[in-house]
Amino acid sequence: MSLSNRDKVHNWHPYTQHKTAPDFPAIVKGEGALLWDENGKEYIDAIASWWVNPYGHSNKVIAAAIYKQLTTLEHVLFGGFTHDKAVLLSEKLMEILPSNQEKIFYSDNGSTAVEVAIKVALQYNFNKGIKKTKVIAFEDAFHGDTFAAMAASGISFFTEAFRGSLLEVVRIPVPVKGKEAQSIEALQALAQTGEYAAFIYEPLVQGAAGMVMYAPDALEALMAVCKEYQVFTIADEVMTGFGKTGKTFATDYLSLQPDMMCLSKALTGGTIPMALTTFTQELFDGFYDEDTNKALFHGHTFTANPTGCAAALASIDLLQSAAMQDNIARIHQSHLAFEEKIKQHPRVTTTRVLGVVFALEIATDSEESYYGTLRNKLYDFFIDNGIILRPVGNIVYILPPYIMTEEQLQKVYTTIEKVLEIV
Ligand SMILES: *Cc1c(COP(=O)(O)O)cnc(C)c1O
Repeated sequence: MSLSNRDKVHNWHPYTQHKTAPDFPAIVKGEGALLWDENGKEYIDAIASWWVNPYGHSNKVIAAAIYKQLTTLEHVLFGGFTHDKAVLLSEKLMEILPSNQEKIFYSDNGSTAVEVAIKVALQYNFNKGIKKTKVIAFEDAFHGDTFAAMAASGISFFTEAFRGSLLEVVRIPVPVKGKEAQSIEALQALAQTGEYAAFIYEPLVQGAAGMVMYAPDALEALMAVCKEYQVFTIADEVMTGFGKTGKTFATDYLSLQPDMMCLSKALTGGTIPMALTTFTQELFDGFYDEDTNKALFHGHTFTANPTGCAAALASIDLLQSAAMQDNIARIHQSHLAFEEKIKQHPRVTTTRVLGVVFALEIATDSEESYYGTLRNKLYDFFIDNGIILRPVGNIVYILPPYIMTEEQLQKVYTTIEKVLEIV
């Protein structure tokens, strides 16, 4: 029996209705932007395996750093101990994070990074005897699938079954072009009630919503309202972090700095699951007390795993290399050229580009749902043609690994042009 078939016996996949799902290709090898399945079929990974893998599959530099760490110190508990890689990684992050960020809390994935941020916002107020228990988030936001992260997420069919058991989160419109004033007004009305501990947002690009983009000055205006009413700002850079938007962080496009940041996905170059949440000194000080009860009683078994930290250190070095920065700039230029060409296409309603992120929307008669028929038709066409792209409804986006060659990228574009002729 093939791996594809054996897989179905025991494995339960994410976001999958197994009754109607097709057989999943079984990937046995990856190199650069390419993957191969058990039958030898080749795929171009045009979404960096869910946005985690900017430096290419089976990257030798990261692999060497991981091997060295595994044979020196694979893991040690972070409760009551520390280790060189956690110290080095935090020092390294301080060089690249917004200058107001001082403290780092390690965890395992994007959702836990968000959980930690929300818990810190709530407990900071609790510790001070202030009653602020609610959170503000954008419509169609995605912050993860654990309970608090899910509560902050606004893609309704992801969260509908759990509505009664969630933290109270109130949504404001995303300040896309033309909706800036509406968004600010909604935020202002909430913030001034004094009931909100935090505002969480995906800065400049809402990934899971279909790479929805909005301008830096619109976000700055929202952040200014939060500062005025002491609502903590949480920049969820789990997707946008580490170069995707053309700068190290999307936040780097702004003159205002967030109170907290959440990072994961590309942190370890797509190798070891790891995440972190960063904080200002002010937030940390809200827990710093003679009273043990004021501490942050949160932790994960693999907190600050040395192997993950070693992978992150190697990844950040790769990101900072001139070659990688050139790759990011090259892909951005290619996206702009493709956008120029494709935006006139009669089936294309809108296009957008930021850094290495490209998205276009296909005209449809009906409201196309997240996993609707058009979406499935597009997805299948791409897979048949050896391209991994996961459209969101009628939105096709590309988020390539930075090392994708120009030839591979052109093949992705041509395949998108072909699909527009058949849908
Ligand atoms: C993917 C994602 C998350 C959740 O990360 P997981 O590692 O899947 O838990 C949170 N926020 C954003 C913006 C994301 O893109």
